Amino acid sequence: MPVDVQEQVLGSIPGLENAEMIRPGYAIEYDAIDPRQLTHGLQVRRIRGLFLAGQINGTSGYEEAGCQGLIAGLNAACHAGQRDPFELSRTDGYTGILIDDLISKGADEPYRMFTSRAEYRLHLRIDNADARLTPLGERVGLVSTERAARFHLKEEQKVRLRAGLAARRMEPVLRRPEVRLSVESATEILGEAPARGVIDTVETEIKYAGYLEQQDRHVQRLRDSERRPLTVGLVFSTIPGLSREVAERLTRVRPSTLGQAGRIPGVTPAAVAILDIYLSSHAD
Ligand SMILES: Cc1cc2nc3c(=O)[nH]c(=O)nc-3n(C[C@H](O)[C@H](O)[C@H](O)COP(=O)(O)OP(=O)(O)OC[C@H]3O[C@@H](n4cnc5c(N)ncnc54)[C@H](O)[C@@H]3O)c2cc1C
Repeated sequence: MPVDVQEQVLGSIPGLENAEMIRPGYAIEYDAIDPRQLTHGLQVRRIRGLFLAGQINGTSGYEEAGCQGLIAGLNAACHAGQRDPFELSRTDGYTGILIDDLISKGADEPYRMFTSRAEYRLHLRIDNADARLTPLGERVGLVSTERAARFHLKEEQKVRLRAGLAARRMEPVLRRPEVRLSVESATEILGEAPARGVIDTVETEIKYAGYLEQQDRHVQRLRDSERRPLTVGLVFSTIPGLSREVAERLTRVRPSTLGQAGRIPGVTPAAVAILDIYLSSHAD
C-alpha cells in the first residue's frame, strides 16, 4: 500500500495514534514472461536454445523454481548434445503437472503447486516416486550405477513379494486396514531382507488395489489422448463444429497434443471430442 495509506492504517489503531513509521512495508515485484510461449521442455518456442525456469515463468516458491530448474537444465544439456527433449507428462509427477498447467493455461497470478491440481493423486504417491521417475532418469544418464542397482533390487523384490503373497493367499487378508505385513513375513517370502520401502509400497498397492486399478485405467486413457498429436499446421477455425471462441483459444495456445488442448481454459470436453473425431477422420 502507498506510504500515506500505511500511515493512516497505523494511526487508526488505538494506542498508535502518534506512532511514527520508520520504514514502510514493501511489496516484492518481478517481471515474468507468458509461460504459454514455452515447450514442455521449458524452451522458448521462438528462441531455440533459450530455456527458462522459476519465477520468470510466473511461478512462486522454492520447489516450483527448483523442479523447473532441473527440467530446463536437463533440456539445455539435451539441446547442446543434440538429443531429444526430456518431457514429463501429468501422470509422471507433479513437475509434469506444473509445466503442463503453465504452458497450457498461462499464469494470471503467481502459480503455486497444490496437490489438488493433480487428476490422479492416488497414482502420484511418495512411495512410488522412484518407480515413476527413476527409469526416465536412467534413460538420460541422470541416475548413478549404484542408485540404479538399488532401484532395480527394490522393483524385483516388489514383484517377488506380490507373487509370494498371492501364492500364500495372503492378499485378501492384507486388504483389511488393521492387518499389516511384518518384516519377518516379508523376509521369509523373499529369502532376504526387504529393501527400504518395499513393504510399504506392496501393502499400499494391495490395500487400495480396486481404486488404483480404476485410476490406472483413467491414466492410460489420459496417456492415449496425451500422445495424440495435433498436426503443426492445423487450422482450428476451419474445423466444423468448433466455436469461434474455442478455435481462437486453440490458435493462441497452439497445443501439441489432444490432452494439452483439453486443459486450455474454455476448451470444453465436447470441443475435445470434436477435435478427436476430426483427427481420426483426417488421419493419413
Ligand atoms: C521475502 C520472500 C520470502 C519468500 N518465502 C518463501 C517461502 O517461504 N517458501 C517458498 O517456497 N518460497 C518463498 N519465496 C519465493 C521464492 O524465494 C522464489 O519464488 C524463488 O526463490 C524463485 O527462484 P528463482 O530461481 O526463479 O529466482 P531467484 O531465486 O530470484 O534467482 C534469480 C537469480 O538470478 C540472478 N540474476 C538476476 N539478474 C541477473 C543477471 N542479469 N545476470 C546474472 N544473474 C542475475 C539473481 O541475483 C538471482 O540469484 C519468498 C520470496 C521472498 C522475496
